[in-house]
Amino acid sequence: MDIADYDVVVLGSGLAGLMSTYVIASAGYKVAVISKVFPTRSHSAAAEGGIAAYIPGNSDPNDNPDYMTYDTVKGGDYLVDQDAAELLSNESGNIVMLLESWGALFNRQPDGRVAVRYFGGQTYPRTRFIGDKTGMGLLHTLFERVSGLDKVDFYNEWFALDFVTDSNRIVGVLALQMKDMEPVFFRSKAVVVATGGMGMLYRHTTNSYINTGDGYAMALRAGAAIKDPEFVQFHPTALYPSDVLISEAARGEGAILRNAKGERFMTRYAPKKLDLAPRDIVSRAIFTEVKEGRGFPGGYVVLDLTHLGEEYIKERLALAVEAAKSFAGIDAITEPIPVRPAQHYYMGGIDVDITGRNPDIVGLFAAGEAACVSVHGANRLGSNSLLETLVFGRETGKHVVEFLKNAQEPQSQYQNETEKLLDDAYRFVKSESGVHFGEIVNKLRDVMWDYVGVFRDEGGLKNALSEINELRDMAGKMYVTDKSKVYNTEFFNALELRNMLDLALVITTSALERKESRGAHYRTDYPERDDDHWLKHTIAYLRGNTVEVTYKPVRMTRWKPEPRVY
Ligand SMILES: Cc1cc2nc3c(=O)[nH]c(=O)nc-3n(C[C@H](O)[C@H](O)[C@H](O)COP(=O)(O)OP(=O)(O)OC[C@H]3O[C@@H](n4cnc5c(N)ncnc54)[C@H](O)[C@@H]3O)c2cc1C
Repeated sequence: MDIADYDVVVLGSGLAGLMSTYVIASAGYKVAVISKVFPTRSHSAAAEGGIAAYIPGNSDPNDNPDYMTYDTVKGGDYLVDQDAAELLSNESGNIVMLLESWGALFNRQPDGRVAVRYFGGQTYPRTRFIGDKTGMGLLHTLFERVSGLDKVDFYNEWFALDFVTDSNRIVGVLALQMKDMEPVFFRSKAVVVATGGMGMLYRHTTNSYINTGDGYAMALRAGAAIKDPEFVQFHPTALYPSDVLISEAARGEGAILRNAKGERFMTRYAPKKLDLAPRDIVSRAIFTEVKEGRGFPGGYVVLDLTHLGEEYIKERLALAVEAAKSFAGIDAITEPIPVRPAQHYYMGGIDVDITGRNPDIVGLFAAGEAACVSVHGANRLGSNSLLETLVFGRETGKHVVEFLKNAQEPQSQYQNETEKLLDDAYRFVKSESGVHFGEIVNKLRDVMWDYVGVFRDEGGLKNALSEINELRDMAGKMYVTDKSKVYNTEFFNALELRNMLDLALVITTSALERKESRGAHYRTDYPERDDDHWLKHTIAYLRGNTVEVTYKPVRMTRWKPEPRVY
C-alpha cells in the first residue's frame, strides 16, 4: 500500500477544516486535506441565514460580548462550557471582519455598517449575512485563500476509512480514492477531524447526503469519546414534505408561524420571544400543535412571509422563495410556506477542550460540527455554528502548530494495522449475498426519528436500542451488488452506514441514561431540567458492542443556571 507522509492530515474541507489548514500551513507545515467531495461542495456551503458576531461600532449600542455569551449559555440550557462561549463571543467580530477582508462581502446598511438581523435566542440582533447564501460566500473565500498555499495538498473525492493509532498516539489515516478504491496510508504526526455532522441518521433532515457522521465513528473506534451524544438539534422550519431548510433568517426578518386555525401559536410557548425562541422550544411547539389537532393534514404548520412585501423578501430571502417554489410549488410572496421540524445539527461531538485537543488520543484534534468543544451545550443558537467553525478552526490550527513543535515522527509502516482495516471494509464487496445496505439504512433512519427524536421516553429508547443492536448484527452480513472498482458509490454508502450504526448506538444509550429534559433532549417521562443530578457532560466510549458512559463537570465562569424562559 502506498504511504503519503505529511505533518498533519485534515479530514474535511468545510469551513472548520479549511480554517485549521490555513493556520497550520501558514506556519510552514505540510498538510493533506482529505474530503469526500470537492471542498466547496461541503455542507458549509448550504448555510444560509448567517454568522453571529458582536462587531464594535456595528452592533446595537447596548450590546456587548458578555450578552452574547449569556445568550449562548442560556440558549444551551447551561450545559455550555462558559470559557469556550466567552472565547466564541470575544473573537466573533474580528473573525467576521477577517473573512470580509479576504473577500466575503457581507450585506451593509445604508450608512455603511455591516447589516444585521435577529436570530432565535438573541437579546440584541447579531447575525451577519451574505444575502441568504452566507455559507457559500464564506466557503468560497476561504477555499481561495487556502488554495494559494504551497504547503497544502487537496485529496478531493477521497474517503477516510479509519485512524491508525500506536498505543494511544495517532499515526495517520487510512483513506481510499473514490474513483478507483485505491488505498493510501496518510502517515502524520497529528490529525484534525473536521468531518461535519450526521443528519443522515434521521428520516427527516436538512443535511446533505454526505453528512453521515464518519468522523464521530472513526474517533469512537479508535478509542476517543463522544461528548454529549444525546443532544441532537431539530430545526423547526424544514419545508414540507421535502425537508429542504427554510432558514431561521425568515423568522429573523419577521415571518410568522401559524397553525391550521390561523393562530400565531408561539404566543402559548414563548410569550416574549415568540417565533424567535430557540429551536428546541419552537420544534416542540410545532409537534404539540400537530399532536393536539391544530396542524394541517399530513402533520405540518405554515410559515407566513406574505406581509413582508415582495421587494424585501426577494432581497433578503431569495433562497427561501426559490426552495418553496421548486420543492413545494408555493409562491412564498403570496402564500404561506408549509413547514415541519427536521434534524439539523449535532451538538454532540468528538470530545475536545478549548484548544481542539482530544484527551484520549495524543495528536487527535477536532473542530467544527465534528467536535464538541461544548460551546452550544444542550441546544445551539442559530448562526453560532458558522462562527464556531471559524473561531475554533483557527484555535485548533494554532494548537496543532504548538503540538507539532515537539511531536514525534511515526516510525513504522503500520502494515498489519492498515491491511486489517482494509480487509474489514472490502468484505462488503467480496460477499456475494447477505443483507443489502439499503434495507438497513432506511430502518435505522426510521428508528432514530421515531424513538430518538424531538420527544423521547424510556420505552421508546429501549425499543430503539434493541432495533439498533439488531441492525448492527445485520450489518455484519452486509453486501453490495456493485463489484466494480470504478466509482463504486454503493460500497462507500455501506461504509457510511457502518459509521451511522456506531454513532446511533452511542446516541441512544446516552439518551436513555440522561433522566431529565435539557435543551434538545426532551424526555416526556422526565420533563424537568434537573441541575442537582444532571448538570454534567456525558462522555461516551464505544467498546466493541458496548457503550461505556461516564460524566464530566460543566465549566462555569460567571453565569449560574436560571430558569430558561423566553
Ligand atoms: C441547510 C443548512 C443550513 C445551515 N445554515 C446555517 C447558518 O445559517 N448559520 C450557521 O451558523 N450554521 C448553519 N448551519 C450549520 C453549519 O452550516 C454547519 O454546522 C457547519 O457549516 C459545519 O461545518 P464543518 O466545517 O464542521 O463541516 P462541513 O462543512 O459539513 O464539512 C465536512 C467535510 O468533511 C468531509 N468528510 C466527511 N466525512 C468524510 C470522510 N469519511 N472522508 C473524507 N472526508 C469526509 C466532507 O467531504 C466535507 O468536506 C446550517 C446547516 C445546514 C445543513
